[in-house]
Amino acid sequence: MTAINWPPRYPSDYVPPAGQEYWSSIVETMPPEQRDAAILGKLREQVRYVYHNSGFYREFYADAPVDPANLGSLEDFTQLPILTKEEIRREQEEHPPYGRFLCVPPTDVFRVHGTSGTTGRPTVFGIGRDDWERIAEAHARILWGAGLRPDDLVMVAAVFSLYVGSWGALVGAERLGATCFPFGGGAPGQTERAAEWAAMVKPSALYGTPSYALYLAETARQMGLDPLNDFAFRFMFFSGEPGASVPSTRKLIEDTFGCYVVDQGSMAEMTPWMSNSGCRHLTGGMHLWQDIVYTELVDPETRQNLPLGAEGVPVYSHTERTSQPMIRYWSGDIAQWDMIDCPCGRTYPTLTRGIYGRADDMIIVRGQNVFPSRIEDILRSMDVFGGEFRLLLERERGELDRLTVQTEVLAETFAEREFDPASLEPLREDIAASLRRALGVAVAVELKPAGEFERTQFKARRIIDRRTI
Ligand SMILES: [Zn+2]
Repeated sequence: MTAINWPPRYPSDYVPPAGQEYWSSIVETMPPEQRDAAILGKLREQVRYVYHNSGFYREFYADAPVDPANLGSLEDFTQLPILTKEEIRREQEEHPPYGRFLCVPPTDVFRVHGTSGTTGRPTVFGIGRDDWERIAEAHARILWGAGLRPDDLVMVAAVFSLYVGSWGALVGAERLGATCFPFGGGAPGQTERAAEWAAMVKPSALYGTPSYALYLAETARQMGLDPLNDFAFRFMFFSGEPGASVPSTRKLIEDTFGCYVVDQGSMAEMTPWMSNSGCRHLTGGMHLWQDIVYTELVDPETRQNLPLGAEGVPVYSHTERTSQPMIRYWSGDIAQWDMIDCPCGRTYPTLTRGIYGRADDMIIVRGQNVFPSRIEDILRSMDVFGGEFRLLLERERGELDRLTVQTEVLAETFAEREFDPASLEPLREDIAASLRRALGVAVAVELKPAGEFERTQFKARRIIDRRTI
């Protein structure tokens, strides 16, 4: 057992030659067994550190069947309890604001971020200065893999607030040496201004959500701009929604802007959240940059670890965090993982279809698991699709869940036929048949004219849950 330098320190002025594929060739392409050994070294230090420095983890690991101060294997690591958002909320309520997760004096916190708490008490993250620098280093390395170079100009088109997504994108691009354009998002009229500025400044890269990119294109067209010729986006990197790994959404964005798309993102709590990220070669899905944040896949019911090839819930662990480390954090997302031969040559496992659902978002229709991202894929692949959709979930006493897909169709298609509703019927039946084939179960379909549903600049909320019982 060799001692390692933990937490690692990275030289702040290192940048590879622009023609080099990797930020760190050795680390990114090592054989997986060798990487596992390196990860074990980091996790052993990380877990020992939280056990000694966090009152929460000391209690949380009191009954662990392994010695948290000296893990012998990655198998040992999987014996530690899984941490949930509920436990973080409870701990932070009892010991505000950070909970006893904080392992440094509160005065050493460099940035305070958090989740907005739209579905419960907000969660607070205290991030120390060294950790913030390591986040910047990790994101620079991953963005390098995504194809970002120092001569790029990055437009960060997401809200600058508690939300750590935009800040994470910004610090990574800054550390890499790219020109940064922190445009922001979310204010009324800001998308029109985004289109004006993008046409004027000509950023080569964009960070935001897939919904935002599509909304930007729609807005630009209404202003008489052509997203393909008036903008100069070479690539776009996204987080916060599954769209970048949904084949038809991805293709639509790529065709609209003449760019390529990189899917990214684990969870805000796990920042550096880019540790799930595609590279410039991958056409859907995300590599798991395991040495930065260690990811396991576990069964949603039994919480047992799953082998490569399986579908389950990603569980994330920091490997180099000193301020507020999250160890074995339950994401509640659903993904499938495997080893693939990516042309980039990285030897990381890959979430082959990105994150395509939430364990609690999964809709069960007559015994079939249905994910909203699958429906999105089918709708967007149709020529008549109007751009938005909603999923209406209903249940009456004693009944099974009923799912109605409300989809927009092109305004002209709708207008042609709306005075004779029966003439829309064949189209509705066509769409219902495509959905039934792809989902393996029949769902109800309602047609709406394009523009019926609100466009979003952030994460789209497309499920309307009217289940009352
Ligand atoms: Zn790759």
